[in-house]
This record gives sequence, structure tokens and C-alpha cells, in this order.
Amino acid sequence: MATAAMSEIEQVQDLTALVDGLRVLFEDPEFKVVSEIKRLTGKPIIGNFPVYSPVELFHAAGAHPVGLVGAGNQIEIAHADSRFQSFVCSVIKSTLELGLTDRLQDFEGIVFHSICDPARNLASVFKRNFPDKWVEYIHFPQNLVTESSVDYLENEYRRLLDRLQELTGKTVTNADVNNSIALYNTARSLMGTLYAFRRDHPHILTTRELYSLVRAGHILTVEEHIRLLEHALRLVRTKPGHERDHIRVILVGSFCEQPSLDLISAMEEAGLDILDDDFLLGRRWFTEDLPTDGNGVRTLASAYRDRSVISSVKHDSRRHKGDELVAQVKSSGADAVIVSVPKFCEPGLFDYAIYRRALLDAGIPHLFVEYEEKMWLFDKVQTEVETFVESLLLD
Ligand code: SF4
Repeated sequence: MATAAMSEIEQVQDLTALVDGLRVLFEDPEFKVVSEIKRLTGKPIIGNFPVYSPVELFHAAGAHPVGLVGAGNQIEIAHADSRFQSFVCSVIKSTLELGLTDRLQDFEGIVFHSICDPARNLASVFKRNFPDKWVEYIHFPQNLVTESSVDYLENEYRRLLDRLQELTGKTVTNADVNNSIALYNTARSLMGTLYAFRRDHPHILTTRELYSLVRAGHILTVEEHIRLLEHALRLVRTKPGHERDHIRVILVGSFCEQPSLDLISAMEEAGLDILDDDFLLGRRWFTEDLPTDGNGVRTLASAYRDRSVISSVKHDSRRHKGDELVAQVKSSGADAVIVSVPKFCEPGLFDYAIYRRALLDAGIPHLFVEYEEKMWLFDKVQTEVETFVESLLLD
């Protein structure tokens, strides 16, 4: 199966043009490519609200998981405001607005996760407003220290799988789950290779480009995404580039609601070489390939506890977020940290207190930046970043 968009993308031999094409695909609030995938494959479409979702289970059950990361600055919020208090992040409102404006008609279902109170409430609001949709909510374990947290999550995933099988009519075998784990292993590994390339050559593979390549995987099938990433890797390895007089940073805080692609560009143009980031973290959740020869559902449950990234929405008392950030800065050779958090994002803002203390103690400079997905004007952020960059370059 190849969507028309993917057939066109595979002909493009220039990374900038490729990224322009991808942008049209993932910024489309009408989800035209998703509709095409549904028509070509006959698979039910399930939207996955951020951050992490066990997409392998949806794939194994014969559904197409689509990363539903709000609507960016592509739609007006005309109806969703009345369902929420004003001090709620934008991704909550724009996701609901997509539903209230009938843009999610091709989605059979949506799954939410226990990442924060607004996301929990959004699941209930969706259930009430869209009684015909399949709406699920995954409770991730809060205490990750005990072995029973894996038993608990395995049971939670089996409950989800039962519901998925009812929806798709497919009986899912262990081999199906392991096959899906293998495919997503491949996609994660390719994204990891691109991330490593960007860390070493940020002047060749920009964050704007890398972001677009990862974000496209929220729309395309995993099989198409793998082909896209392989194609991009070939292009990146032959792309020329010139070193720039930029400062090298690690960016954290943007794990859920996403900034506009133009804001990412504005930060790069203001003088940042981003060596690592936590954009779109859910699709890059595991730190290594998962085994594909065991009990697949349990593999996913235990990997959530033991083989995943550190995150503001995962509460792991065995790890200290501040210490890990400092270690990441030192091992990557970064000069500074950008803490870039969406407005009203409690998990992100709570962690800023941890990061700030650890960075101050380690003598690592940082800049706090606040954004909203619906932003159109970036002058203020760009000026703040430029001032920060100049202060470090002249230091
Ligand atoms: S941006 Fe923050 S507050 Fe909003 S849904 Fe995501 S984690 Fe929750």
C-alpha cells in the first residue's frame, strides 16, 4: 500500500522540499491522508492523544494509530472554550475543537492517557460529546518501583486489547503483537539514527527537518514511515552544510503540546543548534529495541517501566530528572539548556523547578521559553533567544 502523498515524497530528492511536503501532510486539520489510508487499508482509525501510547497494540489489532497532537495554529477555537476553564493548555482545546467541528469523522476511536488532569478530563468530555466513538483511557502505573506495576500494566493492556478486538473483529495473537513490536523497533531505531546524526551535524540536519520526519510518523502507517525515514537518511548523508556560529543546546519541556514548526525555525535562526530535544517523545519512548520473541504484551508493559525515556508524565522515583538532564548536557557537549514549556502545562512547569535547581547547581546556563501551539508571532521568543545566545557567545 502506498498513499499518493508517500508516492510523491519518495520521488523528492531534496530534503528541504521533502520537509515542505511533509508539513502539508501533518498540519492538515482535515486529515486527508488519514482518510486515504482508511480507504486503502480498510483499517479503523484510532487517534492517540500524547504523550506515550502503546501503538503496537493498535497496529496488532488491525487498526491504524494516528498521533492526535491538537491542531496547531490551523483552526480557530470557536466551540471548545465553553467546555473548559480558561487556564488549560491549547492542545486540550484544539483536540476537542477538531471533534466538535466534525474533523474527526474518519476516526473510529480515540485513546487518552493518565498524563495530567486536563487529559483525564478531556477523555470524559469526549465520551459525553461523542457517545458513538470508541473512547479509551489508559491508566499508567504511578508507582514504578514494585514488580506488580508490570503485572498491573500488562492487565491494563490486555483490557485495552479486548476492547480493540471488539472494535476491529480481529483475534490478536502473540505473534501479531511481536510483529508489531518489530516494526516499531525499526521505526524507533531509524529515528534514533537521525537523532544521532543531528546531534553531530546540526548544521546539516536541522531540528525543523528532523521534527518533520518524526511528526510524519504520527499520520502515516508505520510501514510507510519506515520507508520515509530510510529515504531521508539517504538524502541527509549526502546533504552539504556549513558550520554556524551557534550555541549548542538541549531542549526540554515540549513533550506533549507541540510548538509550531515556525517557532522551531525561529529558535534555530536565532542562533541555536539543538543537539537533543523531547519533541514528540511518545513515538521515541523506548531507549532500546524491545525483544520480539516473548510475551509481547508483557514486553510492552515491562519496557514502559524499565526501558523508556525519563519524562514529566512518568513518575519514576528511581531516577532524578535534574541529574539526568545535567548528565545529558555534559555527555552531548551542549553549552546550555532551553526549557520550552507550553502555557498552562502543569507537568512541564512542575519539572522546571527541578531542572532549574539542578542546572543552577551545575553552573549550566538555561533559558525558559513559554509557548502555545496556536502562536502566530514569534518575535518575542526570537528576541529572547537571540539575547541569550549573544550573552553566551560574548561571555
Ligand atoms: S500540554 Fe501538559 S497540561 Fe496539556 S495535555 Fe499535555 S501534559 Fe497535560
